[in-house]
Amino acid sequence: MNEVLWHDLRQECAARNATLVAVSKTKPATDIAELYALGQRDFGENYVQELVDKHAQLPKDIHWHFIGHLQRNKVKYIAPFVHLIHAVDSMELLEEIQKQAARCQRSIDILLQLHVAREETKYGLDQAELAALLSIYNTAPERFANVRICGLMAMASFTEDSRQVRDEFAAVHQQFEQIKMQYPGMSGHFSVCSMGMSGDYNIALEEGSTMLRIGSMLFGKRN
Ligand SMILES: *Cc1c(COP(=O)(O)O)cnc(C)c1O
Repeated sequence: MNEVLWHDLRQECAARNATLVAVSKTKPATDIAELYALGQRDFGENYVQELVDKHAQLPKDIHWHFIGHLQRNKVKYIAPFVHLIHAVDSMELLEEIQKQAARCQRSIDILLQLHVAREETKYGLDQAELAALLSIYNTAPERFANVRICGLMAMASFTEDSRQVRDEFAAVHQQFEQIKMQYPGMSGHFSVCSMGMSGDYNIALEEGSTMLRIGSMLFGKRN
């Protein structure tokens, strides 16, 4: 775990009013505990079972972010405690989160994942799907009483071409601002633009990210 880099990142985030999510996937609970001791409270995981295990072992005031692709049949395992689900990419998943949140008698915050990268393999909503989902959410709020759409999440293309990465982040941020204007009713909670990982967080911050998801830079390479 790199304490110096953590301090630097925290300072950069504070200067830009962004939240630092430490992505601890595949790393042992002892690594998380070290960063927790320094004051880090937001941690990101992308495997359900691993998140459930770590939640059971670690302090209860940790904010657990689920950042990976979430299967509908697994929502129930994280619904009781998850702080923010980053990668909602279908109406079916949103409906399942609503159902499980109601069952737990709580409200769950989520982000909609936007597809911007050129790679075919990356998950996420396209423009039309995003528009449709937001329209339904805003016209039938009673159907979503236990789920709050708090913003957008995106991953840029994995490329050395920083111009392309910048364009992709800028497009996400523009979309984010446009939704705020289009749906002023959401403005109270629609405030998160989750973008930027170890390799591209500088660009993401410059393009308006409010939440970084940083793994390898803090915890070292994953196997
Ligand atoms: C693993 C992961 C990260 C962190 O990636 P690093 O390059 O290690 O910082 C961020 N976001 C998502 C969705 C991830 O799966």
